[in-house]
Amino acid sequence: MAEHPPQTRLICSVTRRTVAAMRQAMAAARDRGADAVECRLDYLDEQPTETDLAALLDDPPLPVIVTNRPAAEGGRFTGDEVERLGVLAAAARAGADLIDVERAVPPGDRPAGRTILSHHDFDGVPGDLDRIAEDMDASSSAIDKIAFAAAGPADALRALDLLRDARKPTIALAMGQAGLASRILAKKLGAFGTFAALEPGAESAPGQPTLEEFTGLYRWAAIGPDTAVSGVIGCPVAHSMSPAIHNAAFEAAGLDAVYVPLLVQGGAEHFNRFLDALVARPWLNWRGLSVTIPHKENALAYVGAANCDPLAVAIGAVNTITLSPDGSLRGDNTDYAAAIDALCDCLGIERESLAGRGVAVLGAGGVARAIVAALAHYRAEVTVYNRTVSRGEKLAAEFACRAAGRDALGDLDAEIVINCTSVGMHPDVNASPLERIPPCVAVVFDTIYNPLETRLLADARAAGARTVTGLDMFVNQGAAQFERWTGAEAPRHVMRDVLEEALTRGH
Ligand code: NAP
Repeated sequence: MAEHPPQTRLICSVTRRTVAAMRQAMAAARDRGADAVECRLDYLDEQPTETDLAALLDDPPLPVIVTNRPAAEGGRFTGDEVERLGVLAAAARAGADLIDVERAVPPGDRPAGRTILSHHDFDGVPGDLDRIAEDMDASSSAIDKIAFAAAGPADALRALDLLRDARKPTIALAMGQAGLASRILAKKLGAFGTFAALEPGAESAPGQPTLEEFTGLYRWAAIGPDTAVSGVIGCPVAHSMSPAIHNAAFEAAGLDAVYVPLLVQGGAEHFNRFLDALVARPWLNWRGLSVTIPHKENALAYVGAANCDPLAVAIGAVNTITLSPDGSLRGDNTDYAAAIDALCDCLGIERESLAGRGVAVLGAGGVARAIVAALAHYRAEVTVYNRTVSRGEKLAAEFACRAAGRDALGDLDAEIVINCTSVGMHPDVNASPLERIPPCVAVVFDTIYNPLETRLLADARAAGARTVTGLDMFVNQGAAQFERWTGAEAPRHVMRDVLEEALTRGH
């Protein structure tokens, strides 16, 4: 391996049980875009002999790091320490490009060879992190590696700090789902490498993405020092489709940008901690945040009403934060705009022409609230129908609309129907919130996007009404975020295709 890497290596951690399987996995890793492999000898059924090591390291398809991690540092080796270190020394003699030696091993016991000196903490960020990093920087190792468990994405930023300050080739990772950003943004900060799994289930540490996720979903090839960053804050966030949509859109638009998932536990204190950490690091070039459950109210509180779209303030929820290079923040609610614009596109009208039109909103939850507030703002004649009547009445009263129970749906008299309940959502795809589509209804909009065509929409189509789908709304809100953060026109067709593909695959 070159002493001064041209770019951060994508290192595939190979966790097979036999030497033969490890050799096969090395070739597969090369084919899937890895720059190097880490052979985890502690995953082998038996510790390798010198003959095994010769077979493993004979003319390998990629540069090889050899690791033999003890259980105390998150590995699987539970045997004798002298044996463990002996195997590492033998691997170095057999031609391993690098051997990983834990910092806990006394300097006098460390095997000879070109080493990665590693430190792992599975409890969290070490209290003396900076001192550890300085010690390692001053050691004779070729490369330093520090990995610690992340309680939130603010800890991922601590790992990026280490990379920024490092004086020699360094790997710094925050482990676990909350630390994922540190693995993806390692390349932006010029890390020596980042670790990837060959396939799902083959991870050697918590939170490790697969090679395919790095090279496809997270645009590994495109990431560089100037890459603009954005991401989605939520809990849970692992199944969010936003990273796939935004990264595909960045790719299609040829933008130097990447979008990452950010698992932030519920509670304003966790949200505020991450935002404070982000704002304090302007060098990250962080441009935008999508905000989802349970943090939309926290986002409004953090950004402050004075810096938010007034309608987002009336709704009480911000789902989009835009960070300016000068450090200022702006809050928006692209959910309401997405819904209203999808509806207006279908009707072929401007928002102002919603005035006086009769709209039946089914539901009184978070999505209904955003849509009712916007419809009321544009002076549509709104009636809220909700299962829990008191909740519907409260929402209607707040925005000067009418409310009714679901038993009144038989007398529904509106040009537009919008379903904001979860009735009809996968897997209850045969359910519908409206038994019959009355002839007065010209447009039916279902905010549900899974399935792509709900029973309500199929019934509406059969009854001759025009339809707006949850997918139309989803694409609109993602596109609005993209345009706010980049100033470029969003490639909507790409965003739609990615969503459709993901939703079709999900079944
Ligand atoms: P929420 O706050 O939990 O509200 C759920 C609403 O559905 C409430 O009004 C609830 O009535 C009603 N409901 C639930 N189960 C019901 C049932 N069995 N019968 C009758 N009513 C029922 O949820 P939300 O965040 O507003 O999300 C609502 C829907 O919006 C979701 O299903 C989702 O598919 C969709 N959505 C779409 C997008 C998009 O971009 N297209 C984005 C987000 C959400 P009660 O008040 O009586 O409980």
